[in-house]
Amino acid sequence: MNPDDPFNIGQHVDQSYRDSIGTIGPDGKRKWVFPWQPKGKMYNRRSMLSVIYLCLFFGLPFLKHNGHPMFLVNVLERKFILFGAIFWPQDLVIFGVAMITFIIFVVMFTVAFGRIFCGWICPQTIFMEMVFRRIEYWIDGSAAHQIKLKNSPWTTEKVIKRISKHLIFYFVAFLISNTFLAYVIGVDELFKIINDPISIHMGGFTMMLIFSGVFYFVYAWFREQVCLIACPYGRLQGVMLDKNSIVVAYDFKRGEPRGHIHKGDDPQSKGDCIDCGMCVKVCPTAIDIRNGTQLECVNCTACIDACDEVMDKVHKPQGLIRLTSEHKIVNNTKQGMLWITKAYIAVLSLLLIILVALISSRQNVETTILRAPGILFQKLDTAHYSNLYQIKTINKTYNTVHLILKVESPAGAVVKMVGDSIKIQPESKYDGQFFLVLPAQVMTGHKTKVVFQIYQDGEAIETVKTNFLGPFYQ
Ligand code: SF4
Ligand code: SF4
Repeated sequence: MNPDDPFNIGQHVDQSYRDSIGTIGPDGKRKWVFPWQPKGKMYNRRSMLSVIYLCLFFGLPFLKHNGHPMFLVNVLERKFILFGAIFWPQDLVIFGVAMITFIIFVVMFTVAFGRIFCGWICPQTIFMEMVFRRIEYWIDGSAAHQIKLKNSPWTTEKVIKRISKHLIFYFVAFLISNTFLAYVIGVDELFKIINDPISIHMGGFTMMLIFSGVFYFVYAWFREQVCLIACPYGRLQGVMLDKNSIVVAYDFKRGEPRGHIHKGDDPQSKGDCIDCGMCVKVCPTAIDIRNGTQLECVNCTACIDACDEVMDKVHKPQGLIRLTSEHKIVNNTKQGMLWITKAYIAVLSLLLIILVALISSRQNVETTILRAPGILFQKLDTAHYSNLYQIKTINKTYNTVHLILKVESPAGAVVKMVGDSIKIQPESKYDGQFFLVLPAQVMTGHKTKVVFQIYQDGEAIETVKTNFLGPFYQ
């Protein structure tokens, strides 16, 4: 028995698929994929999800609160706004935790639910299958018409179709790149670039054209190759999936031996797969899912719809291709979620709760107090010593902030600000210095713990701890 093929499926299957990938022809050149347009419940659900997704993608940069953007990812100026809250580079801890959460989330989600993200949520697939591919079906017609058009000579009809399709493609790519730019620089800046003379915003305008060109190239030509050879997430599938992962899978126990049933054949001699090839025809990455889980499968579920329709026609139960795990197929079980999947979901939920707690407890005004470097202490008189401190405060709000610095402990300590009081302009930083004078009798040795309270509008908003340095013999 072959351990890689315990059910001996190989006897029914042409194994040559192992020698090549579906998008490269025998001559080694790119084989253009003309997938049939799917129809069915999964495609309808994906369509609904993508409408929501596209509304959010194109709408979020326009959302404002009190005239300020609700979402901004300005990597150039290191300014990030999420749900109206401004995040500074000083919020690195949150970003670090968010990144770790994201990576663990991606790995665990993939282990539990396979590559469902690729087919249902990834912008590449949503734009490719739900926007550009639909435009193509609309202008060029069905997959069969597209093949015919490709092989036909350059007639007026073909020229008009090609020009109009690529003009629309470029226009949509231009919209996408402008929206991405709006996430980076904000819609106000974007509209300035659009409305002002080009010479004023040469840099922004050039970026716009470059990104539009990149998106046009990806969706008009590169297409499924992004998922097959460029995307690192896709490359990692092999190490993240296991036998319990939920994937788009062909029930080989039910389907094999595949083949048409002819009049007079014993119905028991064949499995449920009638070898119609519909699951292959709708596949946007040109694979045959009956060969098992493959790197190229983006879990778009188009083959599920196609096969369900075939099963309805031949009066067999739906679900020959379905979202399930290899474990369930091999063991012929319909049992719900495995304990390991539930454990993954629990860990993912916990991570999300931690992240939300971190974000919601984040401070809008953040202060750091450190002793001025290179200076020990000053003896003011026999009973008092002073230390010089540096205070840095970040105002992450859109309002001017006035702060008062008070000492909570030790008692008798006095703050003497150098220069103006603490006034911080919106979205800016304050750098100042102050002396702290301590009576000798409250000092607890060489280092004395000091606790400051920061007040805003009479309310204590932050506690900062530091040390006061005194003489060694104190
Ligand atoms: S095998 Fe099915 S789920 Fe996978 S990419 Fe092809 S059509 Fe989509
Ligand atoms: S669509 Fe279903 S019946 Fe047709 S070849 Fe694919 S698995 Fe077999």
